[in-house]
Amino acid sequence: KVPERIDLPSLIEYVLKLCANKLRAKNITVLREYEECPHVPGISGELKQAISNLISNAADAVNEDGTIWIRLACVEDTGGSFVRVEIEDDGPGILPEHIDRIFEPFYTTKKDVGTGLGLWVTKEIVDRHGGMIHIHPQSKDGARGAAFKVSLPCQPSEP
Ligand code: ADP
Ligand code: MG
Repeated sequence: KVPERIDLPSLIEYVLKLCANKLRAKNITVLREYEECPHVPGISGELKQAISNLISNAADAVNEDGTIWIRLACVEDTGGSFVRVEIEDDGPGILPEHIDRIFEPFYTTKKDVGTGLGLWVTKEIVDRHGGMIHIHPQSKDGARGAAFKVSLPCQPSEP
Protein backbone atom coordinates (compact mmCIF):
# COMPACT_ATOMS: atom_id res chain seq x y z
CA LYS A 1 0.00 0.00 0.00
CA VAL A 2 1.35 3.39 -1.00
CA PRO A 3 0.94 6.26 1.49
CA GLU A 4 -1.23 9.18 0.38
CA ARG A 5 -1.25 12.77 1.64
CA ILE A 6 -4.08 12.78 4.16
CA ASP A 7 -6.13 15.83 5.07
CA LEU A 8 -7.22 14.88 8.57
CA PRO A 9 -10.22 17.26 8.88
CA SER A 10 -11.85 15.72 5.79
CA LEU A 11 -10.95 12.18 6.88
CA ILE A 12 -12.55 12.85 10.29
CA GLU A 13 -15.70 14.28 8.66
CA TYR A 14 -15.95 11.13 6.55
CA VAL A 15 -15.70 8.95 9.67
CA LEU A 16 -18.30 11.07 11.50
CA LYS A 17 -20.75 10.49 8.63
CA LEU A 18 -20.24 6.73 9.02
CA CYS A 19 -20.89 7.03 12.78
CA ALA A 20 -23.83 9.42 12.37
CA ASN A 21 -26.52 6.91 13.35
CA LYS A 22 -24.72 5.85 16.49
CA LEU A 23 -24.11 9.49 17.48
CA ARG A 24 -27.71 10.49 16.78
CA ALA A 25 -29.12 7.55 18.73
CA LYS A 26 -27.67 9.02 21.95
CA ASN A 27 -28.04 12.66 20.87
CA ILE A 28 -24.27 13.13 21.18
CA THR A 29 -22.77 16.55 20.48
CA VAL A 30 -19.44 16.53 18.62
CA LEU A 31 -17.32 19.64 19.22
CA ARG A 32 -14.43 20.25 16.82
CA GLU A 33 -11.44 22.34 17.80
CA TYR A 34 -9.06 22.27 14.86
CA GLU A 35 -5.76 24.04 14.40
CA GLU A 36 -4.58 24.55 10.85
CA CYS A 37 -2.34 21.51 10.24
CA PRO A 38 -0.32 20.08 7.36
CA HIS A 39 -1.33 16.88 5.57
CA VAL A 40 0.21 13.66 6.89
CA PRO A 41 1.43 10.69 4.88
CA GLY A 42 -0.76 7.68 5.54
CA ILE A 43 -3.03 4.90 4.31
CA SER A 44 -6.47 6.49 4.36
CA GLY A 45 -8.44 3.26 4.89
CA GLU A 46 -6.31 2.41 7.92
CA LEU A 47 -6.51 5.88 9.44
CA LYS A 48 -10.30 5.91 8.96
CA GLN A 49 -10.46 2.61 10.81
CA ALA A 50 -8.25 3.87 13.66
CA ILE A 51 -10.21 7.09 14.17
CA SER A 52 -13.56 5.42 13.82
CA ASN A 53 -12.60 2.96 16.58
CA LEU A 54 -11.80 5.87 18.92
CA ILE A 55 -15.00 7.76 18.10
CA SER A 56 -17.04 4.59 18.46
CA ASN A 57 -15.53 3.92 21.91
CA ALA A 58 -16.23 7.51 22.95
CA ALA A 59 -19.84 7.14 21.76
CA ASP A 60 -20.16 3.91 23.77
CA ALA A 61 -18.73 5.61 26.88
CA VAL A 62 -20.98 8.68 27.07
CA ASN A 63 -24.51 8.88 28.38
CA GLU A 64 -27.50 10.17 26.47
CA ASP A 65 -26.83 13.84 25.46
CA GLY A 66 -23.10 13.29 25.91
CA THR A 67 -20.28 15.27 24.34
CA ILE A 68 -17.27 14.22 22.28
CA TRP A 69 -14.46 16.69 21.60
CA ILE A 70 -12.25 16.20 18.56
CA ARG A 71 -9.12 18.34 18.49
CA LEU A 72 -6.38 18.72 15.92
CA ALA A 73 -3.06 20.33 16.80
CA CYS A 74 0.39 20.60 15.29
CA VAL A 75 3.10 19.55 17.72
CA GLU A 76 6.88 19.65 17.49
CA ASP A 77 9.18 17.49 19.54
CA THR A 78 12.66 16.01 19.24
CA GLY A 79 11.20 13.32 16.96
CA GLY A 80 10.01 15.94 14.44
CA SER A 81 6.62 17.45 13.53
CA PHE A 82 3.38 15.68 14.28
CA VAL A 83 -0.32 16.26 13.86
CA ARG A 84 -2.10 15.27 17.05
CA VAL A 85 -5.68 14.05 16.88
CA GLU A 86 -7.35 14.04 20.27
CA ILE A 87 -10.69 12.37 20.98
CA GLU A 88 -12.13 13.15 24.40
CA ASP A 89 -15.51 12.27 25.85
CA ASP A 90 -17.53 13.09 28.95
CA GLY A 91 -18.12 9.46 29.91
CA PRO A 92 -16.85 7.84 33.11
CA GLY A 93 -13.21 7.54 32.01
CA ILE A 94 -11.08 4.41 32.35
CA LEU A 95 -10.44 2.75 35.70
CA PRO A 96 -6.79 2.27 36.72
CA GLU A 97 -7.26 -1.51 36.83
CA HIS A 98 -8.24 -1.57 33.14
CA ILE A 99 -5.70 0.85 31.77
CA ASP A 100 -2.84 -1.60 31.32
CA ARG A 101 -5.00 -4.05 29.42
CA ILE A 102 -7.18 -2.04 27.04
CA PHE A 103 -4.74 -2.42 24.12
CA GLU A 104 -4.72 -6.21 24.43
CA PRO A 105 -6.64 -8.05 21.71
CA PHE A 106 -10.06 -9.32 22.91
CA TYR A 107 -9.93 -7.25 26.09
CA THR A 108 -13.33 -5.65 26.60
CA THR A 109 -15.39 -4.47 29.55
CA LYS A 110 -18.57 -4.29 27.43
CA LYS A 111 -21.24 -6.90 27.97
CA ASP A 112 -22.07 -8.89 24.82
CA VAL A 113 -21.30 -6.09 22.34
CA GLY A 114 -17.54 -5.62 22.60
CA THR A 115 -14.96 -7.54 20.57
CA GLY A 116 -12.04 -5.96 22.38
CA LEU A 117 -10.23 -5.55 19.08
CA GLY A 118 -10.77 -1.84 18.44
CA LEU A 119 -7.89 -0.38 20.43
CA TRP A 120 -5.54 -3.19 19.51
CA VAL A 121 -6.16 -2.54 15.80
CA THR A 122 -5.88 1.21 16.38
CA LYS A 123 -2.50 0.83 18.05
CA GLU A 124 -1.25 -1.45 15.25
CA ILE A 125 -2.25 1.13 12.66
CA VAL A 126 -0.73 4.05 14.55
CA ASP A 127 2.52 2.09 15.03
CA ARG A 128 2.68 1.28 11.31
CA HIS A 129 2.37 5.00 10.57
CA GLY A 130 5.29 5.75 12.89
CA GLY A 131 2.93 7.51 15.30
CA MET A 132 2.18 7.35 19.00
CA ILE A 133 -0.94 6.98 21.09
CA HIS A 134 -1.37 8.42 24.58
CA ILE A 135 -4.29 8.03 26.96
CA HIS A 136 -5.57 10.36 29.60
CA PRO A 137 -7.87 8.05 31.58
CA GLN A 138 -9.80 11.06 32.88
CA SER A 139 -9.51 14.85 32.96
CA LYS A 140 -7.69 16.22 36.01
CA ASP A 141 -10.83 17.71 37.52
CA GLY A 142 -12.78 14.53 36.79
CA ALA A 143 -15.37 16.54 34.86
CA ARG A 144 -14.60 14.74 31.62
CA GLY A 145 -13.96 11.15 30.64
CA ALA A 146 -11.17 9.52 28.70
CA ALA A 147 -9.01 11.24 26.09
CA PHE A 148 -7.02 9.39 23.42
CA LYS A 149 -4.27 11.33 21.66
CA VAL A 150 -2.86 10.01 18.42
CA SER A 151 0.22 11.76 17.01
CA LEU A 152 1.02 11.15 13.36
CA PRO A 153 4.34 12.23 11.85
CA CYS A 154 4.19 14.91 9.13
CA GLN A 155 7.20 13.31 7.41
CA PRO A 156 7.07 9.76 5.98
CA SER A 157 8.43 7.37 8.62
CA GLU A 158 11.39 5.07 8.00
CA PRO A 159 10.22 1.48 7.39
P1 ADP B 1 -14.44 -2.83 22.69
O1 ADP B 1 -14.88 -1.45 22.26
O2 ADP B 1 -14.92 -3.89 21.75
O3 ADP B 1 -14.73 -3.13 24.14
P2 ADP B 1 -11.77 -1.74 22.43
O4 ADP B 1 -10.45 -2.38 22.17
O5 ADP B 1 -12.22 -0.71 21.46
O6 ADP B 1 -12.83 -2.90 22.56
O7 ADP B 1 -11.73 -1.09 23.88
C1 ADP B 1 -11.30 -1.88 24.98
C2 ADP B 1 -11.84 -1.35 26.30
O8 ADP B 1 -11.24 -0.07 26.58
C3 ADP B 1 -13.33 -1.10 26.32
O9 ADP B 1 -14.06 -2.28 26.57
C4 ADP B 1 -13.44 -0.08 27.48
O10 ADP B 1 -13.37 -0.73 28.73
C5 ADP B 1 -12.15 0.71 27.35
N1 ADP B 1 -12.37 2.00 26.67
C6 ADP B 1 -11.99 2.30 25.40
N2 ADP B 1 -12.33 3.57 25.10
C7 ADP B 1 -12.94 4.09 26.19
C8 ADP B 1 -13.52 5.37 26.51
N3 ADP B 1 -13.53 6.37 25.63
N4 ADP B 1 -14.06 5.53 27.76
C9 ADP B 1 -14.04 4.53 28.66
N5 ADP B 1 -13.50 3.30 28.42
C10 ADP B 1 -12.96 3.08 27.21
MG1 MG C 1 -14.16 -0.43 20.62
